[in-house]
Amino acid sequence: MPLVSLDELLPKASQNNYAVPGFNVVNLEMIISAVKAAEKEQSPIIIEYTENDDSRIPLEYIGQFASCLAKASDTPICVHLDHGNTLKGIMRAIKNGYSSVMYDGANLSYQENVKNTQKIVEIAKSIGVSVEAELGQIGPGEDNYTDPSLVKDFTKSTGISALAVAIGTEHGVYKNKPKVDLKRLKEIREKTATPLVMHGGSGLDTKTYEKAIDIGVSKINYYSAMSNKVTEKIVNNLQSTRGQHEIYLQDSVDLELEYFEEEMKKIIRLFRRKDN
Ligand SMILES: [Zn+2]
Repeated sequence: MPLVSLDELLPKASQNNYAVPGFNVVNLEMIISAVKAAEKEQSPIIIEYTENDDSRIPLEYIGQFASCLAKASDTPICVHLDHGNTLKGIMRAIKNGYSSVMYDGANLSYQENVKNTQKIVEIAKSIGVSVEAELGQIGPGEDNYTDPSLVKDFTKSTGISALAVAIGTEHGVYKNKPKVDLKRLKEIREKTATPLVMHGGSGLDTKTYEKAIDIGVSKINYYSAMSNKVTEKIVNNLQSTRGQHEIYLQDSVDLELEYFEEEMKKIIRLFRRKDN
């Protein structure tokens, strides 16, 4: 199965009432776990890497490694640049294996966001790379939520493949239970057929996922709660066996591979909404 873009995954997910998880990765091991989880579940996934993590591992390394595994896989896998902030970063991604990019112009004026997104879409689509863009600003504060009255114009004039919506979810681990504005999500859905993306998607309850998918979210970005859980489990495991034998780096790598695969399989099943 080839490396695919969002265009091959999201319209189908939307029609069949499921969501494709967008697993944010921070290293190469997480990519291996994600591919194994997708293959074992025989379900598509999106592997994402944010431009903000570029200083730790250059986005080229992630793109080359992930796309290599995706091309050899028997399951459709999209390799996506998450929160691309600059044209330069997006071009580096396009040249290095990413089949999809997000352009994040959410902090710009509406007109500037439209103009820059149009430019990225023109370049990316000409070579089969899909583009996700953000309208509103993901995070707290209703003032920053996606304005449904702009959705039709934004999706039409940019030609994006997916729209990231600000509806009350936040990046990072939730300290308080988030209030997801599903009414607004419905209003957004009524304005466009473009697939919708939920950021800050980990740590919500099952009912919220189900409702959001029913309304029309077909990509859910998933990282913080899973990362937190897996890291706690690795620490606990290593601490419990400490003193019994020498501890090497591969001990934590083995646990990381195993625990992420386990969590990712659960999330794939949860968002697929069958065979749970
Ligand atoms: Zn995000």
